[in-house]
Amino acid sequence: MLALHDTATGKVEPIVPRDVGRISMYVCGPTVYDVPHLGHGRFALVFDVLRRYAEFDGYEVRYVSNITDIDDKIITKAQQEGRTPEQVAEEFEGVWWSAMDSLGVARPYETPHATGYVNQMVDAIGEMASRGNAYEISDGVYFDTRAVKDYGLLALQAPETLAAGARVQSNAEKRSPLDFVLWKKAKPGEPSWPSPWGPGRPGWHTECVVMSLGLLGEGFDIHGGGADLAFPHHENERAQSIAMGKRFAHHWVHNGWVTVGGEKMAKSLGNYTSLSDFLSKSDPRAYRLLVLRSHYRSPLEVTPRTVKDAEEALSRMDAMSRRCGAGPTVDISGQYITRKDALALGALQDAVSRFCARMDSDLDTPGALAGIFELVKCGNTALDRGDAEEARRMALTVNALCAALGITLQNTDPGPSGVDAEDDRLVRERDQARADRDWARADAIRSELAKRGWVVEDSPDGTKIRKA
Ligand SMILES: [Zn+2]
Repeated sequence: MLALHDTATGKVEPIVPRDVGRISMYVCGPTVYDVPHLGHGRFALVFDVLRRYAEFDGYEVRYVSNITDIDDKIITKAQQEGRTPEQVAEEFEGVWWSAMDSLGVARPYETPHATGYVNQMVDAIGEMASRGNAYEISDGVYFDTRAVKDYGLLALQAPETLAAGARVQSNAEKRSPLDFVLWKKAKPGEPSWPSPWGPGRPGWHTECVVMSLGLLGEGFDIHGGGADLAFPHHENERAQSIAMGKRFAHHWVHNGWVTVGGEKMAKSLGNYTSLSDFLSKSDPRAYRLLVLRSHYRSPLEVTPRTVKDAEEALSRMDAMSRRCGAGPTVDISGQYITRKDALALGALQDAVSRFCARMDSDLDTPGALAGIFELVKCGNTALDRGDAEEARRMALTVNALCAALGITLQNTDPGPSGVDAEDDRLVRERDQARADRDWARADAIRSELAKRGWVVEDSPDGTKIRKA
């Protein structure tokens, strides 16, 4: 049975779905005002893997993830660029989905947009106000955090400690520095919607509580997001739900940071790599593999070295699958593979059970991958000693388990261009070496490609290869 760490209790607890056979999960999506970076890619991949694994395990997963398409950052960017907030949001939502498609992240079951839920948010704020848990001051309507006894649960801190650490109050009329805005009154020139408190827009924390409860219902199973969202965003969602007398998420799942040299990757720190930069230089599967190699709650260090290791590991899996003649890999575009499918395809029962045991244990993807690499090794060994059938079963199992994690192995013969995954990796590595002005490495890769039968040419778009 799948068990996951719950931020609210600090323990790994079994997931007991509210509805038999169906897991309902809400994950906070992006605010679309800029290009996504590797940190965004990590949360999307972590929850994609959780979703895929739950489907593998036989559940039907209702996965809802929102798009925040109205927010201060979007408005500021629009004002700076002389565009409308809608134009900014539309552009960066497009960038988001194209990055998600490249990473092989399956589209959510539903993708609510904040601007589509403003009326419901106005109703929710009215409900909180009528219960005496929200109050109006000069610049908006605020949530009274004193209304919730255990406020601070997801921050793992007491309200007094949190209040002491809160930043200088943005508005001295607030009753507590912890109180947060539910409705922002519009300033001239800002987009606005009508409300009982005058024209304005909802605060960020209200959209997710309204959309998750609206689409998944009370007491849904899992609420997830990056660790930085646990407080204040998720705590404030939880507080609003309590203030409306509604049961909220049963289980809180948070993934760790992406780090660079031990420091969190963030737009504000200027140390980020955009997803599109990464994807233009590397096999998109390499980032998924990199994410899987760290436990989802641990920091993930992304360096040229760890990326190269991941690409080499993929090449080893691709090569084993090809060599052991597993036949076409499982096509997972737009669908899932289940445990039943895997066994019907000929995957080894023991290996599948071991994989599930690892994944059930708080999504131990490093352990699950170690099992897959053991199969890669055994498959190659079996083939070396002439046991083709054994090797083929191992390769089938590797294909199926990779598919369960969202990785499609490339095991077919090179297409008409004749470029296989290893050639492709070498070309990208040479481009990187040239970008790094590492001419010795670029030359070494040129020789390696020549040995593989390629003539290497430099072009403005980077390394090009053609058959000698
Ligand atoms: Zn959210």
